[in-house]
Order: sequence, then structure tokens, then C-alpha cells
Amino acid sequence: NHLFGLVRAHCPAEPDAKVFIETSEGARYSYADLLARSGAYAGALRALGVKPGDRVAVQVEKSAEVIFLYLGAARAGAVFLPLNTAYTGPEIAYFLGDAEPALFVCDPAREADLSAVARAAGVPQLRTLDAAGRGSMAEAADAASPDFADVPRGPDDLAAILYTSGTTGRSKGAMLSHDNLVSNALTLAQYWHFTERDVLIHALPVFHTHGLFVATNIVLATGGTMLFLPRLDAKKILELMPRATAMMGVPTFYTRLLKEPGLTREAASHMRLFVSGSAPLLAETHREWEQRTGHAILERYGMTETNMNTSNPYEGPRRAGTVGFPLPGVTLRVVEPETGAPLGPEEVGMIEVKGPNVFLGYWRMPEKTAAELKVDGFFITGDLGKIDRDGYVHIVGRGKDLIITGGYNVYPKEIESEIDALPGVVESAVIGIAHPDFGEGVTAVVVPGAGAPDEAAVLAALEGRLAKYKCPKRVLFASDLPRNAMGKVQKNLLREKHADLYR
Ligand code: ATP
Ligand code: MG
Repeated sequence: NHLFGLVRAHCPAEPDAKVFIETSEGARYSYADLLARSGAYAGALRALGVKPGDRVAVQVEKSAEVIFLYLGAARAGAVFLPLNTAYTGPEIAYFLGDAEPALFVCDPAREADLSAVARAAGVPQLRTLDAAGRGSMAEAADAASPDFADVPRGPDDLAAILYTSGTTGRSKGAMLSHDNLVSNALTLAQYWHFTERDVLIHALPVFHTHGLFVATNIVLATGGTMLFLPRLDAKKILELMPRATAMMGVPTFYTRLLKEPGLTREAASHMRLFVSGSAPLLAETHREWEQRTGHAILERYGMTETNMNTSNPYEGPRRAGTVGFPLPGVTLRVVEPETGAPLGPEEVGMIEVKGPNVFLGYWRMPEKTAAELKVDGFFITGDLGKIDRDGYVHIVGRGKDLIITGGYNVYPKEIESEIDALPGVVESAVIGIAHPDFGEGVTAVVVPGAGAPDEAAVLAALEGRLAKYKCPKRVLFASDLPRNAMGKVQKNLLREKHADLYR
């Protein structure tokens, strides 16, 4: 199960005639370009001294060329290691020191700054690649032959190290094998009915599992086409919809698109599938989207360490506020966090998953790996949730966001759902803040819309709907919630900001 074997097996019969990537500038790259350019990158990597098993760290803007570099690394037997474009010099220093890559590819605009960082970290080679796909790395590929004999890889050989988003602490390097990536791509392509006729709107970053593996690998596994946008741009997405069949986005994509008057049934009539993930989609957004477009957004759940675990059904009801069923081949259970004892339907606990999608461990963190990857093969996701009576999985929040107040557990999602349902509330985040009497005080941060209730009105509305211990001690207001590049609410920032609220 070689990642590039997957590409070869599903490559269109006439690779010259089929578009793989079209960019927003209108540049088109065919499957023949994919085969030739990935071969050239593999040859260039070898010429630069990158050996099988070596890491290739990459911090560049999105382009078709970086996808070819990713595939070239797979062909050369190297380990692709993409990094968030927002990372600063000191952050890059951590990742390079941790991963010890044989090569670092960066944006030419940052070469002066980052070459010193790479040198200090002992990285032997540095090359560049820009948003247009040019730079010294592309030149190295120009000079190499497009023919390359793929380095054989076993199912447990690493294809990539992907660092987690760092929402709950320092990012960890998740070691992903060829088999992890290939098995998940094939499962998802089938589950979501992808074929070579699909045209996917791709406006996600390619340094994260969502844009790189879920989106790109599915298209590679079916020989379809991607329309690349450098970033989320609701107007451009609307322009592309009449030519496209599918889109994958984080919840922010959907809330932004809903603000566009042009989003109508007619505008979305050529589309067959809208997928959301990486952060919880508000049930409200799901309903509004269905009213406006006639499409039920398909929400799925995954993480850097496991690729995708669950999905709402393609056929059958896609339930708002749930992440659907475990994917074929994936076993998901909910357990009592302290004892690991399995829990029954509707009982909230820690979500654990097992399957060919689950990673091999954290890069150079044997203790963390041992603590989170159990001997029976189950991975402790860190997410709290439940399985309802119909088998749908619900995520109620992260273990680290659980609030313990006066000895009682409070799951933020339950309180957030009640607050979000109030007229005039756009969204909310519920957090625990150190409290002298209760240990933690339940605290709500509310984004108000037109006609929003004030603090007293929110509290009055919740009284009688929620047990007293679950009701917020305070309700704060903010014009928006802090989010990272993947649309995840950064509750750690909110907790820091309001740390002294009850002091
Ligand atoms: P870190 O592990 O470094 O704290 P992170 O967990 O945010 O960062 P990712 O691997 O990018 O890094 O994100 C995976 C997490 O995203 C999941 O564990 C889960 O909490 C959340 N997530 C993904 N999809 C969904 C979804 N559909 N609904 C709710 N949460 C989701
Ligand atoms: Mg995580």
C-alpha cells in the first residue's frame, strides 16, 4: 500500500487529457504533469541527498507544485513534513530541531530569515518554493529527469509526519504510514461516492490533514479534479460552484458563504456534496444551509493522528450536531476516562478509536505515545462524546475543556447549545475559570447579534432549562471568538484572557 501506488492505480487512462489541479489564475495541471513533476521532484530530492526515511520539512504557500513535491517525497521514500505557513522563525526552529529534516523548503520571501534558523538547527539543505510554484526547489526539479523508479515502501513505513494544530498545547508530530493514508483515502472515496467525474473546490490549506489528506488523497484515489483557491474566499467559491460537484470546508466556510446573498438553491444546483469538519459545525448552520441550498452538510470527525474516524451517511439522514457513524474498518468506543471501562449508549465519556487509520505514534515522544496509544490498539482521542441510541456519535468537547465545578462535570457543548439557541446570539464558548469556591466557575463568552440578550437575560433564559450547577456564573460578551487557521475556537486563549475573573 504505497501512496504513489494509489495514484498509479487510479490515474485516468489518458493522463494528458484530464485536469488534476486548476488554480485560481487559470493554470491547469494534468495527470501527465502530476506523473512527470512528482518524478522530477523525487529525482531532485535524491540529488539533494535525501534518503528513504529522511524527513522533508516544507513551509510554503499553497500551489500545485507543493502537491507534486509531496508526491515526489512519497516516491523517493522520504517523509513529507508540512508546516503551517503562520509559524514564525522561533516556532520553525522548534520543528526543525525536533524533526531533523534532511531538507527544508521555505518561501523565498523568508529565505534570509529562515536560512539562519535552518543552519542553527543543523539542517543540511535549504531550497525555496513560492505561491506561483517557482523557486530553487522547482529549479532542482526542472533539472531532474521526470522518470523515477519509486522506492518500495512497507505498509508501516512513514509517508508523513504531521504536527497537530496545537489547540490544547504544544504541537506533536504524528507519524503516519503509507497504509494509514491509503486506507483512509480509499474508505472515504467510497463512502462519499467520489469518482473521476468529481470536481472538488479546494480552498483549505495544504499543511493540515483536512486539505492535504482528506481532500487531495480522495481526489488522487479517484482520478478527479481539484479547483485550487489559495484561501477561503466566499465570492470565488460561489463563482466556482456551477463547475464543481463537491466542497470540503471547516465550519467558517459555511458561515461565510451564508452571508453571501448569491448563495441560493440555483447557485448550488450543480453540487452534489458539502463536507464539514475540523471543528464543530453549529446545528443552526446546518439547518440554515439546508434551507438556503437544499443540501444537508455532511459532517465528519477526524484528527491529525487518525485521519478520519466517523462520518454522517451519504445516503440516509445527516444529523445536525452529530458526526455520524464510525467509518468502515474503524472501531469507536466511549469509555469511562479514569478506568477505561466501556460505557453504554447515551453515556458521555472519552472517545477511543482503532483501525488502519490510526497513526504509529508521536515522533520522538515515546512516553506520550505509550500514554495515548493503548496496547490493545485503541487511541485515546482526548475528545469527550457519546454514541446515541441510533448509533450516531456526538462530540461534546475536548477532555481538556471539561469543566469541573463544585465536584460536578459540566460539558461545554451542552451549555453552548442552549445559549446558541437564544434569539440574538450568534455563537458562544463556555469555559471553566479558576473560582475560589467552586474550583472552576462555568463562564460563557457570547457573540451577540441584533437584539441580543444581556447577561441577566441569558442567565434568566437558562434557569429552569439547565441544572443550577451547569448555569454560567458569568456571561461575557465579545465581538468574535478567537480561532486558528482551521477555524477551531482557541479556548486556551479565552481562559488566559479571563483568568482573573473570579479572583
Ligand atoms: P492539538 O492536538 O495539538 O491540541 P488539535 O487537536 O486541534 O490540536 P487537529 O488534529 O487538527 O489538532 O484537530 C483534531 C481535533 O479537532 C479533534 O480531536 C476534535 O477535537 C476536533 N474536531 C475535528 N472534527 C470535528 C468535528 N466534526 N466536530 C467537533 N470537533 C472536531
Ligand atoms: Mg489533538
